[in-house]
This record gives sequence, C-alpha cells and structure tokens, in this order.
Amino acid sequence: MKLKNILKERAKGISFEFFPPRSAEGKDSFMKVVNTLKRYNPLYVSVTYGASGSTQDRTKNTLTWIKDATDLTVMSHLTCIGATKTSMDVLLRDYINLGIENILALRGDPPRNMPDFDPSIGEFRYAKDLVEFIKKYNYFSIAVAVYPEGHPESPSIEKDMEYTKEKIDAGADFAITQMFFDNRYYYDFIERAEKRGIKIPILPGIMPITDFKKIKEFASFCKATIPKDIEEKMVPLINKQDEMFKLGIEHATKQCADLINNGIEYLHFYTMNKSEAFSTIIDGLGLPSVLT
Ligand code: FAD
Repeated sequence: MKLKNILKERAKGISFEFFPPRSAEGKDSFMKVVNTLKRYNPLYVSVTYGASGSTQDRTKNTLTWIKDATDLTVMSHLTCIGATKTSMDVLLRDYINLGIENILALRGDPPRNMPDFDPSIGEFRYAKDLVEFIKKYNYFSIAVAVYPEGHPESPSIEKDMEYTKEKIDAGADFAITQMFFDNRYYYDFIERAEKRGIKIPILPGIMPITDFKKIKEFASFCKATIPKDIEEKMVPLINKQDEMFKLGIEHATKQCADLINNGIEYLHFYTMNKSEAFSTIIDGLGLPSVLT
C-alpha cells in the first residue's frame, strides 16, 4: 500500500529502518528481528541502499523477503549519485513488477572506499532530481530525508531549508529526519519548515546511543550533535556495555516520550537490524496503546 494513503489513514504510528544483511545466510536472523518488531504494527519498514547502488540487489532481495513473509508495508531507500537515468529506469520497473510502491529518494554520498569515485558520471545531481524522475511513473509514494541541524554540506541552515522545500515541492509525500539527540533541533526544524509552508508529515528519526563510540563517529559524519551531558555520562561507560546500553535506551525513551507529549505522533526508528533496544523503548513508553 502507498504510504501517502497510510499516513492519511493512520494519524499515529512507528516505523523501522533496516539495512540489507551482507549475505543470504543472514536471512533467518534478519527475519527474526523483523518478526519481533512486527508486533508493533509499524506503518512501514524500510531498507537502506548502499552508497552509489552498492547494495542494489541486496536491498531488493531484502524487501522481497519481507514482502513474501509478512504483510508489512515496505519502503526502499534509493540513492541517485552516480546513477544514470537508464539504470534508474530498469530498477524502478523492477520495483513496479515486485509491487514495491514506496521510495525514500536520496542523493547519497560518494562511497567512502572509492576515493576515485566520480559523481559527475551520474545524471542526477540532487535528491530533488530523483524525486522528479520517480514522480513521472505515477506509481510510487515518495519520501525524502531532512536534516534538523542542517545537512553537513550546506552553507547555512537557511539555504538548507530552501533546498529542502524545493525537494519536497518536487513531489514528496513525507520526510524522515536525520538522527538527532536533542529534541530542540527537531522542534526548531518543524517551526522553520512550517514558516516556509512545508505541510507534509516529518517523521523524527530516533537512534538510541547503545554503542557510544560507533554512534559518536557516525553522528559527527552526519552533523548530529550528542549533548554534552549525555557524552559525559557515556564516556566512563565505554567498557561497560550493559550500562551504556541501559543509558542509551533511557535517553531515547525520554526523547520519544517528550516528542509524544508535544503532539508528535509518528516515530521512525533506526534499528541497525537489532530489536532489543526498540522493544524496550516501545514497551517502556506503553506505545502499543499510545502510537500503534
Ligand atoms: P540532497 O537533498 O540532494 O542534499 C544534498 C546536499 O545538497 C545538501 O547539502 C543540500 O542542502 C544541497 N542541495 C540540495 N539542492 C541543492 C541545489 N539546488 N543547489 C545547491 N545545493 C543543493 N544514504 C545512503 O547511501 N543510503 C541510504 O539508504 C540512506 N538512507 C538515509 C535515510 C535517512 C532518513 C537520512 C536522513 C539519510 C540517509 N542517507 C542514506 C544519507 C544521505 O544519502 C546523505 O545524507 C546525503 O549526503 C544527502 O542525501 P539527500 O538525499 O539529503 O541529498
């Protein structure tokens, strides 16, 4: 089902983001995680797409596993950097044949392990170009990524909002935010977006800090600030994984509770293909009755 319609029908709900397992051998453990989280009746589950199409087949296969084994609504992430219109057309036709109706349209980043990668070989410059391209098929519901603290390459937060508005106006039905660890960034973004006349749902992206070192590295690459007080509590726990996990869950639970108390009724969880943290957060919030 198209997410555009699901979001109209359901005023609240959660979603889960996964990445494709490295090999087909990972299918069973991956599907176990999906099946565990399925009980929260998510709006959709999404599967990421590796830089410059490096996981194209794996993303497609993973979406197919989920579709075949469950009744969950799926969404494919799709990046366009380095892609040609012909290659994109082949993939989108494949998606139509497979009944994959929802796409998170992204520019993507040059692959980090390919320093010689030349993005100019591609025929898409920005995510907006991909949104326009996908829109022409008149088949897909389209989402885009947005950045509460601004995209790392943006010259200013104002310019970033200007480009965000253009990208949404090109045909996005909803947006998902980059992870953030202080809700004030999200509230500020929503206020600025509303002032710009952006009216689509903007789902907050929640990433619990269950592995501080890893998430700190990722967060600085994405320009997502980890608040000082959280960092100070996390650093002494670097070698105390259980305590760190507990603290990370506590912080994410507080974040979600605050969002819900402020009337935000959709939450997007970055799962990293693990279920435990999310079951704890959702159960802790009593979400089955609040949001699902
Ligand atoms: P764009 O919207 O194209 O923006 C990229 C930059 O260009 C920004 O700085 C923007 O301000 C600027 N810009 C836009 N339009 C213009 C213009 N007209 N003129 C000048 N500058 C402009 N990456 C993956 O590889 N795979 C994934 O599956 C994936 N999933 C993601 C999911 C979410 C929810 C989020 C938030 C990010 C995800 N990413 C993923 C990361 C994403 O690909 C990167 O953040 C990438 O750097 C930007 O992609 P974008 O679609 O936001 O790009």
